[in-house]
Amino acid sequence: VNRVHLDRIGRAAQQTAARELDALVVSPSPDLAYLTGYDPMPLPRPTLLVLRPDRDPVMLVPELERALAAASPVGQHLELVAWRDGSDPYEAAASLLAGAARIAVADRLWARHLLGLQRELPGVAFSTASPVLGHLRSVKDEDELGALRRAGRAADDTFRQVVALPFQGRTEEDVAHDLADLLVGNGHARAEFTIVASGPNAASPHHEPGSRTILPRDAVVMDFGGELSGYLSDTTRTVVVTEPPEDFEQAYAAVHEAQGTAVDTVRPGTEAQEIDRAARTIIDAAGYGERFIHRTGHGIGLELHEPPYMVEGDRTVLEPGMTFSVEPGIYLEGRFGIRIEDIVAVTADGVERLNRSTRELQVVV
Ligand code: ZN
Ligand code: ZN
Ligand code: ZN
Repeated sequence: VNRVHLDRIGRAAQQTAARELDALVVSPSPDLAYLTGYDPMPLPRPTLLVLRPDRDPVMLVPELERALAAASPVGQHLELVAWRDGSDPYEAAASLLAGAARIAVADRLWARHLLGLQRELPGVAFSTASPVLGHLRSVKDEDELGALRRAGRAADDTFRQVVALPFQGRTEEDVAHDLADLLVGNGHARAEFTIVASGPNAASPHHEPGSRTILPRDAVVMDFGGELSGYLSDTTRTVVVTEPPEDFEQAYAAVHEAQGTAVDTVRPGTEAQEIDRAARTIIDAAGYGERFIHRTGHGIGLELHEPPYMVEGDRTVLEPGMTFSVEPGIYLEGRFGIRIEDIVAVTADGVERLNRSTRELQVVV
C-alpha cells in the first residue's frame, strides 16, 4: 500500500472541499505523479484522475493503458474506468463529474481536453488546480527533501569539476556538453538544462548555448540542473576567464551580497516577496536595479518552476519544508551578465542551503 500517495490524494480532496470546489481533474503531469506516483506521457488520448470530496477517487484511462495504470503505485486503490478508442472519452468523463458545478483542472491539462469537458459540461465553472495543489506540493516531506539534497550535491560536484576544465578557445556548446555529462556522472538520471552564456551572451538570462568561442576576459554564466529520483537541481555560478572584464567586480560583489542577504532572510513566517525585496534592495543600492530583470526565485521540486515565487506580490507565508531558488542577477546588454543561484529549504527556525559550492568569484582558464 502506498501510504504517501493515498495521503496526498486525501489532502487534495480536503483542499478541494475547503475551496468549495466539487471536483479536481488531473491529467498526466507532475500533479498526477505527485498524487498517484503514476507518470505516463501526456498524449491525445485523455487520462483523467477525478477527485470529488464526497466520493472515492476514480481515474479515467484509455483501455490500452489500463494495465499500465493498474500496475502504478496506487493502481490497486483507485477505481479505474476505461474508455475504448471509438467512444467519446469526454462523455465518459462527464458522467464521472455529473452534478459538479465548480471544477478545478490541472494547469497542464491540454486545451483539447478542457474544450472536450466544456462541451460535455455546459454551465460548469472551470478553474485551475494550482490554488488547490500548489500549497500541498510546495511543502516537501523528508523523502522529497532527501532527493533535493542529493540533487543539490550532485550539481555542486558538477560545478567543482567544470571549473577545472579549460574554457577559452572552446565553444559554449562544448562546455554545455561537459556540464550534461558531469550532471549524469554525479548521479542525476539525466541533465534537464545546461545554460552556458559567455561574454555579451551572458546578458540574456535564458541564453541557449551556441557556437560562440569563449575568450579571455569573458564572464561565463552557467545555469544547470538535472533530475534525480524525480526531483530537480538548479544552480547558477558566474566565472571569469583569465581576468574580469571592466566594471565586473563591483557588479559581482552586489549580486554576491544580494544573494547572501536574501538567503539569510529566509525563515518560517516570512512572505515570499520579502526574499525578493531583500535581494533587490542591495542591487538597487549598487545602482543596478534596472538591470536585475527577473524575479529572485521560484519553487522547485518535481517541476523546475513551481509555487511559491520570490517576487513582489507573492504573499505566500514560508513554511518549513518549502524549497526554492534564490538567484539574483545583473545583466548589462552587449557586455556581460552575472547570476548566482542556490536552492534553499525552509527549516523549523531558518534556512538550509541545498547548494554549497563556492560563491566567491572563480577564475578559469
Ligand atoms: Zn531561469
Ligand atoms: Zn537556474
Ligand atoms: Zn532557477
